[in-house]
Amino acid sequence: MRLDTKAMRYLTAEDWRTLTAVETGSRNHEVVPTPLIGQISGLRGGVHKSISALAKVGLIARLKNAKYDGYRLTYGGLDYLALNTYRKRKDVYSVGNQIGVGKESDIFVVADEQGVQRVLKIHRLGRISFRTVKANRDYLRNRSSGSWMYMSRLAALKEYTFMTALRENGFPVPEPLAQSRHTIVMSLIDAFPMRQISSVPDPASLYAELISMILRLAQYGLIHGDFNEFNILIKEETKREIEGDNETETITLTPILIDFPQMVSMDHANAEYYFDRDVNCVKRFFERRFHFTSDEKGPHFTDARKLIGKDGVTRLDVSVEASGFSRKMAKELEAYMKAVGVDGDGDPEAAKGDKEYGDEDEDEDESEREGEEDVEENGAGRQEEAIEVNEPDLLPGK
Ligand code: ADP
Ligand code: MG
Repeated sequence: MRLDTKAMRYLTAEDWRTLTAVETGSRNHEVVPTPLIGQISGLRGGVHKSISALAKVGLIARLKNAKYDGYRLTYGGLDYLALNTYRKRKDVYSVGNQIGVGKESDIFVVADEQGVQRVLKIHRLGRISFRTVKANRDYLRNRSSGSWMYMSRLAALKEYTFMTALRENGFPVPEPLAQSRHTIVMSLIDAFPMRQISSVPDPASLYAELISMILRLAQYGLIHGDFNEFNILIKEETKREIEGDNETETITLTPILIDFPQMVSMDHANAEYYFDRDVNCVKRFFERRFHFTSDEKGPHFTDARKLIGKDGVTRLDVSVEASGFSRKMAKELEAYMKAVGVDGDGDPEAAKGDKEYGDEDEDEDESEREGEEDVEENGAGRQEEAIEVNEPDLLPGK
């Protein structure tokens, strides 16, 4: 999905207020009645002008066949609200190229006021569900109001919470910078996904590093749940050493882990299944891509379980519950993901129909495909477009 920020600069303070009112009303109305929008916005002059302005640029949509006249927020509207929050908090100043299109997310390069590049991840749960299986549609239809919005929020919150906890405990993950609604902002990792790497100097050491990361996660009570070649970015650092007449160049590869909405506890009912799947993903990829097979079997789940809490480390599966992502939220998100068939992009079943997984590994230009759909062409460079708004300080809640 495109993220067209152009309309932002034309929205008036009243439009923003009206958009926020639709968001507020969406919490308990699938279709927010027009009079309620007026009431929540508190705009005495009426909201009709703003409503039509917002509907015209697709930030809200009039719902057909509703019993009453009303509107719902669109993904575009929610995007704008999140961006406006970032803009006010100075987390994001401009929006640049789209670098990824996942099954359930869009990834953009953004920049702060100093021009430092960051990554904006927008969760879009419900997107594939509406396109695919009928059962999913029925499931969603029977959900309480605004389910896609709520679930996308949960996914973003979960990802932010886990990324923060992992980062605090020294795991190689991006730095989480901000979170709003269905989106997060994190540091940009200047690296390619392992999927795009055709050879490495020493597969055995990279393999060992990845397996030790899986075990270290287990020690902290966690399973990534989607530990695959798309979610491991490989940072390449070249070191030059000169000794006398000899100049040696060593390349070190550092794996950075991303993508956390599907993380599960080592105590999860299916923990063994997820653990094995993560391990096997690495094994399979190393065999196919680098023709490397480890001499060692495993690691096995039963052994990994013995590592939980070793050396007195905090169980992050437990601590995240206290820091904002509750067990109830975890259950709701998991039930939803299961119902719509989102079970990590490492699962070939779940990834059916996903173009990233269309063919087998050897497809050479596969790497170019990610981010192809709907990507805004901005030329070769990364040109950002500043988020401009009118009267930025006249927003609701002030
Ligand atoms: P999804 O849930 O859609 O798989 P990911 O978080 O895995 O989303 O991101 C999709 C792609 O976007 C990644 O494979 C990677 O290429 C890119 N990406 C995501 N986060 C970052 C980041 N912080 N820095 C650089 N690239 C990133
Ligand atoms: Mg991913």
